[in-house]
Parts: sequence; C-alpha cells; structure tokens
Amino acid sequence: MSTTTATTRIRTGLALRDVTLTYPDGESRLTALDGVSLEVAPGEFAAVAGPSGSGKSSLLAVAATLLRPDRGQIVIDGQDAGALDDRARTALRRERLGIVFQQSNLLASLTALEQLLVLEDIRGGRPRAAQERARELLASVGLDAAKQQRRPHQLSGGERQRVNIARALFGSPSVLLVDEPTSALDHERGAQIVDLLAAVTRTHRTATVMVTHDRDLLGRVDRVLTMQDGRLG
Ligand code: ADP
Ligand code: MG
Repeated sequence: MSTTTATTRIRTGLALRDVTLTYPDGESRLTALDGVSLEVAPGEFAAVAGPSGSGKSSLLAVAATLLRPDRGQIVIDGQDAGALDDRARTALRRERLGIVFQQSNLLASLTALEQLLVLEDIRGGRPRAAQERARELLASVGLDAAKQQRRPHQLSGGERQRVNIARALFGSPSVLLVDEPTSALDHERGAQIVDLLAAVTRTHRTATVMVTHDRDLLGRVDRVLTMQDGRLG
C-alpha cells in the first residue's frame, strides 16, 4: 500500500455496514454485534451509550480493525478493511486510526512526551519535527512543559487520559476511537475530557466515536447512539 500524507489524503470518515461479530461460547457462539451499521463523518463526534456487556467495546475493536467481524464491512476513508491483507490493514490502522483504550496502556518508565515519541521511533520519522509536534499536541490537550516530563504515576487520572488522547492524535488519524474515557474520573473531570474530545474532533477533523455508559455526558456530543444486546439504535 502506498503511504499518503495527512495533507494529501482524502478523508471520508468511518462506516460500518451490517456488522455481525460472534465469540466462541462453549459449544455455541455468543453474538456480540448483531447487524450493526454506523457512519461517522470527518469532524463529527458520536457517542455510543449502553449498559455493560451490550457490545460497545466489541464495536470499537471491530472499527479499529483489531477484530474481524463474521459478516459486514468496515470502511475507513473509503477503504474496505476486510479486503486488505494483514500488512495493509496494519498500515491503515497506523496511518488512519487513533485509539484510546479503556485501560490506559501508557508505559510506566516513559515521560508523557516520550509516550508520543516512542511511536515516531517505530515510524522512523524525523526526531526534531516529531519533538516539536509532540510538545504542541500535549500543550493543546492541557499539559504544560513540566507535566510533559512526568511519568504516568506522577500524573492524575485525567492527565493520563490527556496523554492517551494526544498520543492517539499523534499520527494525524482520520478516525478517533475512544473507549470509556471517563470511567476512572469524577463527573467534572470526565466532562472536561469529553469537552476536550469535542474540541479535538473539530480541530483535527476526526470522525470520533466515544463509548460510554455515563448518560450525563451525552449532552456534549453531536450524536448519541444506543447499544443494547449487540444492536445499535
Ligand atoms: P461492553 O463494552 O458494552 O461492556 P463488550 O463488547 O465488552 O461489551 O462485550 C459484549 C459481549 O461479548 C458480552 O456478553 C461479553 O461477555 C462478550 N465478550 C466480550 N469479549 C469477549 C471475548 N473475548 N470472548 C468471549 N466473549 C466476549
Ligand atoms: Mg466495554
């Protein structure tokens, strides 16, 4: 697959079409996603709400191309993920997707700034420009130069989420997928994180999907979808 830059590529956002996902469950299968369809445009902030076990994380894993559905299509910027081989799908994920997982997976030994730069080492980009970009992104999510030098255990839960969000934005993703970003935060800090996600969705023109079970935060997004027993309404 050819590598495109953030400035030249065409963004059309995320589409899921009639996606069904099952997991092995003893002798049979458990249906986690049941004919789910969803379209999110660039610059749009959609929330998926629903009770625990309704399939929200499964939806994000499929949208992130980390799990292959039994049936249906995942289309990212017009590319059908199911039609790609493993290498091309990994490249698509790296170049187009930003993912904030429910479990913060920051590396304990790295500073906030290094959490972003370690990605650039893997990408083999220019270290100088990357440093500059990482600093700007961290500042834009509210982490000043001093906090950028702290390790995860020296940051609050909300600040760690900000690092996660900055890291997800570092590759200039078209699609931003965020799983329960506020579950470890009090209401006020949770609301601040959702407002930050709304702001980055506008600034970076991402098609953003946030999963949450916190109904109080839903007034802050463009669109709310409800997940129930693997179905999206
Ligand atoms: P949510 O994020 O809304 O809590 P999940 O997507 O995690 O829901 O789970 C949806 C359903 O799929 C649940 O019944 C859950 O137990 C089941 N499930 C999730 N992950 C797996 C897995 N890896 N293997 C088997 N079942 C799973
Ligand atoms: Mg979940």
